[in-house]
Amino acid sequence: MGSELEERIDEVAELIVNSKRVVVFTGAGMSTESGIPDFRSPGGTWTRVKPDDSKKRAWRMLSMLRMMELVQPNPAHYAIAELEKLGKLDCVITQNVDGLHQKAGVPEEKVIELHGSLKWVKCLGCGRRYATEEIARRIEQGVEEPTCDDCGGMFKSATISFGEPMPVKEAKEAERRSRSCDLMIVIGSSLAVFPAAWMPVYAKESGAKLVIINVGDTPIDRHADVRISESAGKAMSKVMERVKSKLAT
Ligand code: ZN
Repeated sequence: MGSELEERIDEVAELIVNSKRVVVFTGAGMSTESGIPDFRSPGGTWTRVKPDDSKKRAWRMLSMLRMMELVQPNPAHYAIAELEKLGKLDCVITQNVDGLHQKAGVPEEKVIELHGSLKWVKCLGCGRRYATEEIARRIEQGVEEPTCDDCGGMFKSATISFGEPMPVKEAKEAERRSRSCDLMIVIGSSLAVFPAAWMPVYAKESGAKLVIINVGDTPIDRHADVRISESAGKAMSKVMERVKSKLAT
């Protein structure tokens, strides 16, 4: 690792030590390090099943659940959870749907999921929400096409597909938190999907410092106080090591 990178890692650690309310914004680059494909990309596995194919839909729900059980947080998720333990974390705003921040130890109420979650499925008829696990259990018990108890409607995963708008409540809360943090750290997002990608702009506008850790360019790189082009796990592990040693002295 070059000394220039070391310097930037140190700058990020210093910003964290001097901050009270850190908002972390995460994207697909976080999850790919846990072996999860980018679900929402056009043509991705989860978007291409025709709604009239009930067996495929059932299969998809089961595989979703299995995958959720199998995938594990990576060092970047644990580094963010450490921010929480240090009392620095205001919240995580994520474009990911895999629930890995919670699995790493960030409390549910501190994770704002802009694109929904694989933990839930929604009735297409009345909008009632069910735990994916419960519906998957019905499929495993032999129900070929589970339907809504209330209206008989079909289920769809409670994630936002490419091109769909963000949920209003989450988007508003994310904007509010972005505007009131003193440090925003973007990790593993190319900030290509708007309006989600406005969050770091709101933070910067409101006077917060901005760190962007992502392999590859983002449209707002020039606004970043520190810019690191490195994998999320590697960079964040080093950052947190540095933070802890600074706090210990
Ligand atoms: Zn229903």
